[in-house]
Amino acid sequence: MATLDHSPLPRIPRSKQNDYEESIVIDRRELCEKIAGRPLPHLSGQPVPLESARNKVENLIGYAQVPVGIAGPMIVHTTKGRREIYIPMATTEGALVASHSRGMRLLNCGGGARSRVIREGYTQNPILVYANAEEAMKGAETVRNIFDELAEIVSQSTTHGRLVSAEPQVLGRRLVLALVFTTGDAIGSNMGAKAAERCSAHIAEKTLAMERFVHGQDVEKRANSRALVEGRGRSTVCDVTIPRDDLEKMTRTTPEQMRSILNSYLVGFAHLGTHNWTVQAANGLAAVLTACGQDIAYVTECATGFLDLEVTKAGDLYASIYLPSLLIGTVGGGCDQGTAAECLDILGVRGEGGSNTFAEILAATVLAGDLSILAAFSTHEFTEAHERLGKNRPQ
Ligand code: NAP
Repeated sequence: MATLDHSPLPRIPRSKQNDYEESIVIDRRELCEKIAGRPLPHLSGQPVPLESARNKVENLIGYAQVPVGIAGPMIVHTTKGRREIYIPMATTEGALVASHSRGMRLLNCGGGARSRVIREGYTQNPILVYANAEEAMKGAETVRNIFDELAEIVSQSTTHGRLVSAEPQVLGRRLVLALVFTTGDAIGSNMGAKAAERCSAHIAEKTLAMERFVHGQDVEKRANSRALVEGRGRSTVCDVTIPRDDLEKMTRTTPEQMRSILNSYLVGFAHLGTHNWTVQAANGLAAVLTACGQDIAYVTECATGFLDLEVTKAGDLYASIYLPSLLIGTVGGGCDQGTAAECLDILGVRGEGGSNTFAEILAATVLAGDLSILAAFSTHEFTEAHERLGKNRPQ
């Protein structure tokens, strides 16, 4: 059964003659300005004040330029309610924005994706080193008894960060201190590092630790099994049911073919031993994170998760994505400068209270990208689309 709950936002303006010509680019930007509720001078090409790079880079020589396109409109039901949005994507991979846009139309056919942050927790794992395993075990016992002291230390080092748990793990004579924080609307990397430094120093003082390393078990910015199993940052689920007729009309494939091709991918993923059981999460995430001034190195952890497809009893396609380690923020880092602030405003998530909605939008974007690319693989249209939209010969 086809649904009618499509987005009332206008389709993105396109020109059949030349889609890169100035007037059509301005039309699209004006649409974004209307949505953002303010002018977007830096996306229009106005230079960013040099001062806004302070504390973000050293030895400044200028700004890198990456083209930004918009995908959508996309309907997503977030914790804060129904949203209709265009998604800014910074990329040089031709076909990426078009592919995500097609996926978003599919989500809209299902009435929009439903997206939820189900867990928050930025982790830091300092290591303390003892003379032997027995001393490390005593250190662990101390940690178990001083949670309130550690929580107090954290609350004195940050207003928005809170210590959620502090679990000691003894690895021979080394003690891994697994600290979990909530971090408000920031990613939490500076906030967490500062708090972890103070907590580990406090424990070292109270025990017979010989050395301590704040980034001891360094989970930062590397694919790892904890990112998949425990999650880090904002763990997010997103799902949708797409009517069979709409899927067939829009992509020339069927729910059964989609399920079948995913089965082959799952065998391939198991064979690879990857933590990324999605089809192209890294692609959509890298593009949105770049546009929105995020710390792009976190894509290593963010692109961890699962795509799951099922054919419903009614013959429609149920699809869900689980991204357990979204390390993103709408405060701090590069959020407040130039084009990044403008892109966060297009999404309506900049600043306080925006980061969970941002994570929920990201999960829906990844789901859209995965459905579209899987359909293109299923119908063998992927290579042709890239040849047409994404090939760049040196000039
Ligand atoms: P940040 O830019 O260092 O700090 C966020 C700041 O915003 C804090 O001072 C916080 O104050 C304040 N704040 C105001 N309103 C807030 C709100 N609603 N929620 C949360 N904070 C709020 O951000 P970060 O996320 O901690 O660190 C991200 C940066 O660290 C990125 O630039 C990243 O590249 C870099 N980084 C650092 C490390 C590291 O090990 N140090 C590693 C990787 C990346 P309070 O703290 O007083 O609450």
